Amino acid sequence: MAERTPWSLSGALRGMFAKKTIDETTWDDLEDALIHADFGPDVTEEVVDDLRAKVERYKTTDPKDLQRMLREGIEERLAKLDPTLKLTERPAVVLVVGVNGVGKTTTIGKFARFLRTYDRKVLIGAADTFRAAAVEQLATWAERAGVDIVRPQAQGQDPASVAFQTVEKAKNEGYEIVLIDTAGRLQTKGGLMDELSKIRRVVEKQAPIAEVLLVLDATTGQNGLAQAEAFIEHAGVTGLVLTKLDGSAKGGFVLAVQDKTGIPIKLVGQGEGIGDLTGFTPHVFAQKLVG
Ligand code: GDP
Repeated sequence: MAERTPWSLSGALRGMFAKKTIDETTWDDLEDALIHADFGPDVTEEVVDDLRAKVERYKTTDPKDLQRMLREGIEERLAKLDPTLKLTERPAVVLVVGVNGVGKTTTIGKFARFLRTYDRKVLIGAADTFRAAAVEQLATWAERAGVDIVRPQAQGQDPASVAFQTVEKAKNEGYEIVLIDTAGRLQTKGGLMDELSKIRRVVEKQAPIAEVLLVLDATTGQNGLAQAEAFIEHAGVTGLVLTKLDGSAKGGFVLAVQDKTGIPIKLVGQGEGIGDLTGFTPHVFAQKLVG
């Protein structure tokens, strides 16, 4: 992971940080780099204003100071929200939501493996029941991760009933963490949100929902934010998972998305392999982003 950081700003800013002194072009260059990296106009303006004020206050002209202040400022912004997964309930039920193609199935597979490495007994529920291929793909990931899965008994079975059966099995058989995949057909947004609400209601009759994780594709940048809103409004999202950061030059999306949604990023996907999922650590992220 350390080798592949195309989302790092340090490439775009290297020239600037290597200069002898901070001058007027510095601020334009910085603004361009942040916009290009998908910080979004609001966060970009705040970050640049904040840095200008600090540079004045500390009367520095050294671009190295600017780099350090940028890194610290980004870390501080990100650390305002708590990225810790709350998985203490037994079973801890996690609903995974998001539109098709963002990397939901892959994330569940990676997450299951991640939890297995901590010796957790994990059960996956395949509640995206309309796409037979989706169930098969999820089953393949479950096998790779070495965890069990509850499949629909028939294609198109009520997703809420699959979720119910999954949680029931988890309670009866002592599974510690339940990951429930859900549908992501955005064409029928109203229907999808109703379906998610029903799943929530049915699950909550048996166990509290520990987390609702919304998966977002970092390469979709600001468009992903529009998608996020509907889920946040209707699905009770508690955390975000950003996928495909490895293929994106848009690391600033991390700040934009936390700023706009007020919801913490809890997991980050950086590749298609089963090991390419990590928790989100503001300090590490800021360090990698800014250098
Ligand atoms: P779903 O429709 O949301 O379930 O999406 P999938 O899990 O099937 O993923 C869609 C595509 O994105 C697949 O080709 C995955 O291999 C790919 N993908 C998922 N997560 C990542 C990631 O973190 N990095 C990269 N590069 N590709 C990813």
